[in-house]
This record gives sequence, structure tokens and C-alpha cells, in this order.
Amino acid sequence: MRSQDRPALGITGAVAGLCLGFAILAAWSPLGQQLDAFAYDFLLRLRAPSPRASAAVVLALDEPTFRAQGSMAHLRRPLTEALERVARSGAAAVAVDIQLADLYDAYWDDRLAQALAANSNLVLASNLVGDRSTGQVTWEDPRPEFGRHATLGHVHADPDPDSINRQVLLEKAGLDVGRPTRRWALALEAYRLASGGAPVVETAETLEIGPAVIPAPRREERAVRVNFPPDRIEQISVQSFLNRPELAARLRGRAVFVGVTVQGGPDRLMTPYSAWYGEATPGVLIHAELYETLARGAFLRTAPESLTLATAFLLALALAACFHFLAGARAFLAGLVLVAAGHATPVLAFARDRVMPVSPAAATAWCCFLGLGTRHYLFTRRRLGQSEAQRARYQQAVHYVTHEMRTPLTAIQGSSELMGRYTLTEEKRREMAALIHAESRRLARMIEMFLSVERLSAGELELKREPVSSAAVVETCLERAQPLAERKQIVLRFEASHGSADPVLGDREFLEYACYNLITNAIKYSPANTQILTGVGRTGDSIRITVQDQGYGMEAHEVKQIFQKFYRTRRAQESGETGTGIGLSLVEEIVLQHGGSIEVESRVNQGSRFTLVLPRARDRVAEAAR
Ligand code: ADP
Repeated sequence: MRSQDRPALGITGAVAGLCLGFAILAAWSPLGQQLDAFAYDFLLRLRAPSPRASAAVVLALDEPTFRAQGSMAHLRRPLTEALERVARSGAAAVAVDIQLADLYDAYWDDRLAQALAANSNLVLASNLVGDRSTGQVTWEDPRPEFGRHATLGHVHADPDPDSINRQVLLEKAGLDVGRPTRRWALALEAYRLASGGAPVVETAETLEIGPAVIPAPRREERAVRVNFPPDRIEQISVQSFLNRPELAARLRGRAVFVGVTVQGGPDRLMTPYSAWYGEATPGVLIHAELYETLARGAFLRTAPESLTLATAFLLALALAACFHFLAGARAFLAGLVLVAAGHATPVLAFARDRVMPVSPAAATAWCCFLGLGTRHYLFTRRRLGQSEAQRARYQQAVHYVTHEMRTPLTAIQGSSELMGRYTLTEEKRREMAALIHAESRRLARMIEMFLSVERLSAGELELKREPVSSAAVVETCLERAQPLAERKQIVLRFEASHGSADPVLGDREFLEYACYNLITNAIKYSPANTQILTGVGRTGDSIRITVQDQGYGMEAHEVKQIFQKFYRTRRAQESGETGTGIGLSLVEEIVLQHGGSIEVESRVNQGSRFTLVLPRARDRVAEAAR
């Protein structure tokens, strides 16, 4: 694309900037965050499950178990019997996700206490109770007889605003007998005990257990995303476990999570998987999944915000460049590729276990594509309209010029033919030679004018630099234009005010052309019996040459276009006055080459005033004289 066919760089930049700002705001909105959550759940569900057997196993107090007991009220009995067997199974750790804060029955309570004591690496559930809004929350721990040999772990979930549990806060604080106490999550304690029982070492960014490093920044409240498909965790019904002793072998070396899994039970929560099927997941399964995440080191880390913003910024930049430098369909195709890249970036990041919100990049890509695309389309359409209008005007001008050229050519041809064919008197011959001379000069002037415009704007024409009296230039032009004015009974007046004698530094011939053009235009576009006032004066360091008429005038939008080549106002075309629409473009070029400017004021049916503002030559002339 040629540089003049491109939209202004500043505007492209502004559009891209606006779109980027809007996209970032949209991504921050609750809607953007919900979209990010949907995308996260979707990408999580796409993950291929590991073929390896799970490191955790769930002992489920499920429907068959309760059916065999006759009621859920007797949960302690199967729990006790199961724990007795688990104690002999060689499990790496045992986590019980059941509140043991109350008594059930003297016989079974005693037996349960013994079963719990027989299990090593035991973690029991501790719950925060109280008013969370006031922060007055207390740990509800298992009864002392149950928890004597156990480590306590919190069993709290922290669902997102859409009630879906995507992560677990590894640390929770509450009061324990009036003292502020922190508890690690049940799964973290089970993992710590299963991997040797080393203490948790805390840093700002991580928790370390022996050689294992868990990325859980303190500023994110030690949150860890649960990253394991629930169906990969082996589940064994407590009822089967009790009926088939050989199942105990399945627990060897694994972490056992014991909990209630009945459908519609109280401890069921939504996860990215279960939300898809519309069925809540048992809490104990979520703890087991978190354990699995920790044991496999399958951490999904949050990508730094700076990276997310940089991606959005680069996308906006690339789209701006694409719509600025490419033309037509290629710009849109490349734009679509970038939109696709905007969507692919978070997906690729997710494949590398980095969670990058989808909406900043996607919203930036779409906003910039639509914003810059619309601007590109409108710009192209405008340019097309402009070049079509210019083409039409050009054709009209060519038509006029060829028509104009035909008149002198016919005269030249006719006269020369007569001179060749007949013997003419000396007087007649001289008359015809004069005619041929005059017409050929007219033709030459016409051609010269056309060429001048092109060469001047291409910077190929050298202007002279000599002191020229503006007043003298105007007077010469008025003299030449007098016959034209008289034909329309138009009075030409001249007013020389203060400073009019000061010279300008320039090319007299071109300045005369400019001035003459303004005066003849004023005559052409004014009705008969009007006046034209021409003036020369000085304002500051500028010489001002003014031509003011009482003619047809122009609309404001027309004034903006009269310096374009071949442009003629509708009134000018209807006036019957001949013209090419290139005179003023040449005038403007001449003035610019002299370091000046041109001003136009015009009102429809009241008249126009054209002013040439040229730099005064005094200082430079004085300098040259020194
Ligand atoms: P033209 O050969 O048509 O006179 P110019 O380039 O000199 O070409 O002028 C361009 C157009 O500007 C004219 O066609 C006319 O529409 C408008 N124009 C120029 N001077 C005047 C004026 N004094 N009053 C009204 N319209 C003018």
C-alpha cells in the first residue's frame, strides 16, 4: 500500500488505544470474569486424564453402606469397622472427612477411639463455626478421645461467586479455645504425613514439604487449584470393603480419604466437572482430588498479570499494524489470524499449566478487529469516493481543455492553409501571421499552465528569488483584467494601504499569475454591475494581497475543496463561465513555494475574499545587500 493510501497513523493508534482500553475494562467486568471462569472450566475438562492409578483412594460411606445399616444415623458403626481394617492395610495416610465433635453411643464411641488410635498418619476434620462476616469463627474439633493421636485439617471449600469450587485455600485461621489458630487443609496434612511428616516451610510464594514445593502465594491466601478429574480417583464403598477383606490390599501405600458420598447428602459441592453434568461432587472426593494434585505436582499456576496485559497490548499493536499497512481483504484476513491468535494464547498457556484469563486477549482481539476494521472500511470507501470524484473532474477538465485547444488550432490550421494555397496581399498575409502567432501563444500558455501545476507540486520548477513590489504586481494584473471586467460592467478598484510598497522576495511572473487568477475568478464568478476591491497592505511581517468581490460566493464545504485540482463548485459550472478547476491549485502551490499562505472567506450570494499572505522581503533583502 502506498503511504498516501494509508489512514493517518495517529488515528489508527487512537482507535487501537480506545479499543484496547475498552477491552480491558470489559475483561475486568463481572461478565468478563464469568467468561474467564467458563473458559477455565472448559479447558480443565478437556485435559486428558493420567493413565496412572490415583495416589488417593476414597472409602465411601455411600447408599449401599447406609442401606445395610438401616439408617444414616448409624454412620459411626461402618466407619469404626472400616477404620479397624484400614489400620491394618498399610495406607500411607488416613484422612477422615466426618465431624467427630459429638458422642453417639458408649460402646461404639469407645471402639471408634481405639480404631482411630490404631491408624498412624491420621488426619481428622476440623470445621470453622460462627459468624464469618464478623471474623468471630471458632474451630470445631473432634472430641479429645477421638483426636488424641490425630493431626487436624480444615475441610472448608471456597467457592467462586458462581458457586463453583475451583480451588482450596490451604490455610485457614480461627479461634481455638479463644486463641487464634491456623489449620492447614485436610489434604495438605495427609500429603505431609504421607511424605514423611516434615513440617511445612512457608515462603511468600510457596509452601515446602521436604523437597516438594507447592506454589501457593500468601497474597492469594495459599490457594491451590484442584487439578484432577474426579473419575480418576478410585472409590471403594465401605460396604464392599467390609464384605470383601481382600480389598484392603488396594489401600497399601495410598492416602485413604473416608467420607460420606450419598446422593443429595449435605457435603456436596459443585466443581468444574460436576457443573457440566449438573450434579454436585462429594466434599471428600474434592479433598482426594486436591491430594492427587499435590502428590503429582500438577499445579495450575496463575500467569502474571503483566503477561496478560502485555499479550493484550501486543495484539492491539499487531492489529493496528495489520490494518495500517495492509490493504483490503488482506488486512481483514491477517486480522482474523490475529483474532485466532488472541484466543489461542490462553489455551497454549493452559497447556503449559499457566492459567491466563481468556477475556483480556479475546476482547482486545475482537474490539481492535472490529474497531480498526470499521475504520479501515470507511477510509477505503472514502478514498474510493474521492478518487472517483477526481477522475470525473479530470475527465471534465480534459474535455474542456481539448475543446479550448481546438479553437486556436482551427484558427492556426485555417490561416496557414489559406496562406499556402492562395497568393495574399502583404497586408492580409501579415494579419494572418499575427493571428497564427497569437493563437499559438495562447495554446502554449495553456499547455504551460498545465505543466506548471505538475512541475511546481513535484518541486521541479525553480522559482526566482528577487524583490518584487506587490503593489506593482497587482496594478499590472488589474490593467490586464480591465477589458474582461468592462465586458461585465464590473468596476475594479484598488486600495494600497500602509506598507504596500514593501517588496516580497519571489518570482514576479508566478506572483502575477496568482494575482491575475484571483482577479479573473472574481470577475468570472460575479454578476454584472458589481465591484471588485483589490488591496495591498502590511500586517506585521506579512504582505497581504486581497481580492474581494460581490459575487456568487461559496458554501463552507465548497471552500474546503476549491484548491483540489479540477474541482469546480456547482454554481461555477452553472454560471456558463469556462474553467478547468486547476487555477487555484496552482495559485496555492505558488504561494506555498513563496513561504506564504492563502486565506478564503466566502458567503453565498454575498461574495468572496481571497487573501494572499506573503512574507515581507525587507530583512532578507537587507541581508543580501550587506
Ligand atoms: P476555474 O478554472 O474553474 O475558475 P479555479 O481553480 O481558478 O478554476 O477555481 C476553482 C473553483 O473555485 C471555481 O470553479 C469556482 O467554483 C470557485 N471559485 C474561485 N474563485 C471564486 C470566486 N471569486 N467566487 C466564487 N467561486 C470561486
